[in-house]
Amino acid sequence: MEKKRLGIKASLDPDEFNHKLKIKVGLLEIFLRTTDMNDELPGRIQSLLKSYPGIQLTLHTPIRIPEGLVNLEDDDGVEVYSALCDICEEEKRVIGIIMHAGDDRKKIIAEAKRLLKKKPRCADFIHVENCHGALYELESFRSLVKEMGMKKVCFDISHFASCHNEAQLLAALKTLGNEFELYSHISDNFYDAGNPFPKNIGQGVVDLKRVLELIPIGIVETYSKDESVGKEMLDDYQKLLTLL
Ligand SMILES: [Zn+2]
Repeated sequence: MEKKRLGIKASLDPDEFNHKLKIKVGLLEIFLRTTDMNDELPGRIQSLLKSYPGIQLTLHTPIRIPEGLVNLEDDDGVEVYSALCDICEEEKRVIGIIMHAGDDRKKIIAEAKRLLKKKPRCADFIHVENCHGALYELESFRSLVKEMGMKKVCFDISHFASCHNEAQLLAALKTLGNEFELYSHISDNFYDAGNPFPKNIGQGVVDLKRVLELIPIGIVETYSKDESVGKEMLDDYQKLLTLL
């Protein structure tokens, strides 16, 4: 079996990623901002890759500050995801894109088809995330990803645990792992508590040792008091390593 790959997250601010990458990790998920989406982005990513020869990257859909994340269904969705796909095609070590789809199922499916027509290789990189609402339900999530024509998912543990129990969580991971390429945002939470906000590792009740057995690749998706320093997230990453 391929070695399990766990990583951390950072923005594309060099002060931030250089600080966080003082610990050695093989995978970094870049939380982009819409202000990063310009002609300089490929060069900035290249220089990060050059500074950290062993690392692989995934690109999280950019956030508009203050409005929120770019969904595929948004007016600029296809354009943004198509630009991210170009970077993955260009750089072998940029291995994936984490996509927020949106709420309007009909529109999401139509836009996914438009994106795949424009850039067929997008399906090799895009991981659709169970990021909100109806997508916390397994059937709704897996049927949407299939109808979109995508092959990969980003499964957020805390989102799912917030409205399910442990048996359902483990079953969902097995089902998704059989049907799609599975990537994960890993955090703790309480089952059925209704609050999807990720908890730091050990602050909830999720049996992450069992969860990790079912996840081939993912990043620790927990919050820190100061995100540019990421102390709590880095501590959480070390805790996850002890569970492998
Ligand atoms: Zn996300």
